[in-house]
Amino acid sequence: MCHTDLHYREGAVNDDFPFLLGHEAAGIVAAVGDGVTDLVPGDYVVLAWRAPCGQCRSCRRGRPWYCFDSRNATRPMTLLDGTPLTPALGIGAFAEKTLVAAGQAIKVDPSARPEAAGLIGCGVMAGYGAAVHTGAVGSGDTVAVIGCGGVGNAAVAGASIAGARRVIAVDVDERKLDGATRFGATHTVNSRRTDPVEAVRELTGGHGADVVIDAVGRPETFRQGFYMRDLAGTLVQVGVPEPGMTIELPLIDVFSRGGALKSSWYGDCLPSRDFPVLIDRYLSGRLDLGGFVTETLALDDVEAAFAKMRDGQVLRSVVVL
Ligand SMILES: [Zn+2]
Ligand SMILES: [Zn+2]
Repeated sequence: MCHTDLHYREGAVNDDFPFLLGHEAAGIVAAVGDGVTDLVPGDYVVLAWRAPCGQCRSCRRGRPWYCFDSRNATRPMTLLDGTPLTPALGIGAFAEKTLVAAGQAIKVDPSARPEAAGLIGCGVMAGYGAAVHTGAVGSGDTVAVIGCGGVGNAAVAGASIAGARRVIAVDVDERKLDGATRFGATHTVNSRRTDPVEAVRELTGGHGADVVIDAVGRPETFRQGFYMRDLAGTLVQVGVPEPGMTIELPLIDVFSRGGALKSSWYGDCLPSRDFPVLIDRYLSGRLDLGGFVTETLALDDVEAAFAKMRDGQVLRSVVVL
């Protein structure tokens, strides 16, 4: 269960009810369609919501991780009465069987527990990729991550694996800051108690971080991230803002501080390249995917789990079918 499922449920994505929720999933291929050559029934896969088309202008420029026409199943899933369902992010995994485009099913090492493996299908990949791909964190960099839920902690883990010298976790919740240290945060800042911009500057020799990742996606966190960067630093926005939110910044600061302001969709990932790598890192003990699994539950218990999600009590509740 991901916050995006909650957004669908509450009508914040679109009005194409009824929805089939669930989009971070691992499972077994039951059947393949005509012309599918690289998957067979029995393959163990993690589902992705980006399946590059190979034809759009971004794919043709050699940038399939930005694909503008990602593939989904062409045949709709339906209720028993024939009513078409809208699968969340083109996946719809709260079901015993779902239907996806072949390119959405990524084969990974079958020894990875599915409860953990499925999480790389969205939130973990988004956070990890925001640090490693979009932010291009390198050896010796200083990194600050604002918001330590599933995506933020994955950014912490990605920055740590990429060789960051310092990884500073910023959140308003002490429990979440404790959690972030488990994923590799070297320092924590409670932004309810202290000015996070000043605190990050202090922890970086007075300069600010080389890369800041905003995993919240609100005007106030974007502004904090903008000013907690060092000169020529990079701010990556991976938290999804609500429609209608706006940001106002002095244009002279945007110019004179240099660097880059980047948004990160799905961590700019290429699932076929990146999922097997993350699973291998999990299996070798370098990426604590299991640490994101707060609880497992049955499909009938998702409403209770949505309530916990709203309260910020969980990183991930995982439905086991
Ligand atoms: Zn494309
Ligand atoms: Zn998600």
